[in-house]
Amino acid sequence: MRDFEALRMKRAGGSPTVALNAKGIRMKEEGIDILSFAAGEPDFDTPAPVKAAGIAAIQANDTHYTSAAGTLALRRRIVRKLREENGIQAETDGIIVTPGAKPALYQAMMCFLEEGDECMVLTPAYPSYRSGILMAGAEYVPVPLRFEDGFRVTRDMLEAKVSKRSKMLIVCSPCNPTGHVLTGEEMRDIADFVQEHDMLLVSDEIYEKLVYDGRKHLSFGAIPEIADRVITLNGLSKSAAMTGWRIGYSASSPELSRVMLKLQQNTVNCTAAFTQAAAIAAFDCADEAESMRQSYLRRRDLICDGLNAIPAITCPRAEGAFYAFFRIDYKGMNAEELADYMLDKAGILAVPGTAFGEGGEKCIRMSFAADEASLREAVKRMAEIFS
Ligand code: PMP
Repeated sequence: MRDFEALRMKRAGGSPTVALNAKGIRMKEEGIDILSFAAGEPDFDTPAPVKAAGIAAIQANDTHYTSAAGTLALRRRIVRKLREENGIQAETDGIIVTPGAKPALYQAMMCFLEEGDECMVLTPAYPSYRSGILMAGAEYVPVPLRFEDGFRVTRDMLEAKVSKRSKMLIVCSPCNPTGHVLTGEEMRDIADFVQEHDMLLVSDEIYEKLVYDGRKHLSFGAIPEIADRVITLNGLSKSAAMTGWRIGYSASSPELSRVMLKLQQNTVNCTAAFTQAAAIAAFDCADEAESMRQSYLRRRDLICDGLNAIPAITCPRAEGAFYAFFRIDYKGMNAEELADYMLDKAGILAVPGTAFGEGGEKCIRMSFAADEASLREAVKRMAEIFS
């Protein structure tokens, strides 16, 4: 038979984190005692009022197609949220409700990138950015940030990678995997940069509710000079523990949104009607979101304090999101070797930093969206194998 795989899929590659998570599930099913910290998924259940709203919607036969962009009720609720919480002057015509933030991300890349374009990404970064850029036929241009600098970006770093073909920059704050939350100064530099180079800015804000130590999440879409070139991505997977419901959205100008809507109409059509009904309830679950944040904060301190007591490990305190992204200097091992060693010797599944691209050398990402007993046990095992 011929090789049927399209070039764009050859370019893309799979998702390393999804694959590692599947490996962990398989090992557990085979009865192997492992602790898995590979997935980026809350271990909390969806809040009760959200589940009730979803069930009520199903009982009320809210099980048909909705308009492709999402129900007007949900888009209005998202607009209110963006105006009140993020300072984004959103309009219902600029909102597309998607089955998870991932399709919104994919739409942004497929609709605005093509052969000959370059898309810049601050790395280490969520692996789906790279895959999507390559699937769109564009060139992936990493802007490697440094562990030693707390993964801060400067205008010089951006200018060093820009070209006439640069069309889009993707940023994620709070960042998966590094936990960095962009400072006001970094945001101003990025805003000036995309404006001067006439680029689109995709701002992945899925972890916005998870910021620590008094930090505040700020949105690029609230900066008036660049608001019309910003595509804000968000969703309820993390903030309302709704990963399996599949609910996300993009917010942009009605002009940009119109383009992405064409892709939505021709692919997923719409997000499940009852998921959309449940999502409306999720926006009113601020107390539940805050209590999850406080749990993550306790777990962050538990894992960081524990790992930092091991001389080979340097574990910065995540400023946001729910990942410890730390460096291990042990027998000259690289990130993949370290991850293999942790799995073989301690039964700990974690993701090598290089799965997130340049800047992740000698680093490991461990999700701390896990129960405290597992995190304690992991720290104990790590101390044993890295002494
Ligand atoms: N962006 C980032 C940075 C993520 O970590 C994730 C989930 N791992 C997503 C987007 C997608 O989330 P979802 O599709 O579940 O909304």
